[in-house]
Parts: sequence; C-alpha cells; structure tokens
Amino acid sequence: MLKFDDKIAVAVSGGKDSLSLLHILANLERKQPKSTVVAITVDEGIRGYRDEALRMAARTCRELEMKHYVFSFKELFGVTLDEIVKRQRQKASRHLTACAFCGVLRRKALNIAARNVGAYRLATAHTLDDEVQTIFLNMFHGDVWRLAKEKPVTDEVHPKLVQRIKPFCEIPERETALYAYTRRIGFQSRPCPYASEAFRTDVRVMLNRIEEKHPGTKFTIFNSMEKLRPAIEMLAEKEGLVECSKCGEPTTEKTCRTCQMLEQLR
Ligand code: SF4
Ligand code: ZN
Repeated sequence: MLKFDDKIAVAVSGGKDSLSLLHILANLERKQPKSTVVAITVDEGIRGYRDEALRMAARTCRELEMKHYVFSFKELFGVTLDEIVKRQRQKASRHLTACAFCGVLRRKALNIAARNVGAYRLATAHTLDDEVQTIFLNMFHGDVWRLAKEKPVTDEVHPKLVQRIKPFCEIPERETALYAYTRRIGFQSRPCPYASEAFRTDVRVMLNRIEEKHPGTKFTIFNSMEKLRPAIEMLAEKEGLVECSKCGEPTTEKTCRTCQMLEQLR
C-alpha cells in the first residue's frame, strides 16, 4: 500500500482507529526520509461531538509534530450537518438520515482535502469490522458498483480522484483500541449523536453477535469478498467516471450525489 517516497494524507477523525493509524504511519515516515505524512480532518459541523474530536486530533498532531489540515462542510458545501438535519426534520415527507448525507459529503470532502494538500494517497482507518459492515450495507442497498469498487486499495480511475488505501482493513476494531490504550493515545470515545439512526449500527450489532458465537466470521466474509471481487468487477465495469456537470468532481452520473443531495436540501 505504501511507497518509500509517498505523500500520504491520513483521514483523522479523532477516534481510536484513525489516531492509531496516524501513530503507526508517523513511525514509518521517520524510517523513510523521502516520505511525508500529513493529517486531514473533516469537520462535518456536529455540535458538541466533532469539536471534541477535533481537539483530540489536533493534540495528537502536535505531539507527533505533524501538519494538520481541517476542512469543513460549511466551507466546502455552505452548510453544516446539524443544519442539514434540522432542515430534513422539518420535512413532512420521509427524509434521508444524517448518516446518508454525512457519508456522501465526507467522502467527497476527503477527496478534495487530499487533493488540495497534494497527497498521492489517502489513508483511511477502516478496520476489518468497518469493511465487513460496508460489504453488507452495499448488498442491502443493492449497490453492486460500490461492492466492487470499495476495496483496500482503490483503482485510480480519474485524475481528480486520490487513491484510497485502508491499511487496517484486516485489523479487528478491538485491536486498534488495544493499540491506542497501550500507547496511551487519547481518543474520543463519545458516540456521534446521530449514530443511532444509522443502518450501519444495526449491521454492526448483527455482525458482532455472529462473531461472538462464531469467532473468525468477519475474516471469512472479508476473504470471501476478496475472492469474489474480480467477478463482481466484471459486472460493474461498464460505469465509467465523468465530471459532475455542477461541481466538476468525478462521478458516475451526470450530476454527482453530493450536488443532488444539496439541490434536494434547497
Ligand atoms: Fe456522520 Fe453518521 Fe458517523 Fe455521525 S454516525 S459521524 S452522522 S456517518
Ligand atoms: Zn457535483
């Protein structure tokens, strides 16, 4: 995943996974003088939650003497997640959850952030648990394209898209927590106030229950997906990337999902 002269942007939320990843990559960087690691944090604008996480992220970056860049939804999209939720809740009709907006907007924000800091690769701290949850979520949503494309090292399919790497994709979440504790890394433990609405939370509970009874299941699912992926990629290959007619960012449709969502809010 990493090269000796890489410039890596690490997506740092302030939680145990991303701060552990930052520590590990910072250690590797010291051994590779031609490489650079910087931290980027996306501030979604979740009052009382993201503020604390931002402080944790900033503190660790200072300790590691690492550059830390913060990009906010407000700056990039003109609206915070709290404002989006407020507007959505005023709607009489069925509305999208906070996480549905957050996921799409954060993904785009991270790509813009990584590109702006000149990174060759964007490292995210998705753990084995996250990866297996995502496999199920994509299946539940019937999203075959994402099922094929969400892999530990993404293909560079567009010049505006920074390659994503997931160095923790085979590390169980419990182990990243253990690493953070043993290294005495301070991290945010408070959950996001919108987390209970997330479909992902249900999938997490389901998978944890299965794993408890049948240890090793998460690894088996992850490995099965890796074996199946080439076949699924053949099915999904037809969708190429174009530039969004509104914002110019890479998308599979005429208008990207972020612009569609922001339009819907207006
Ligand atoms: Fe965003 Fe949902 Fe995660 Fe909160 S729980 S940070 S709203 S994706
Ligand atoms: Zn767009």
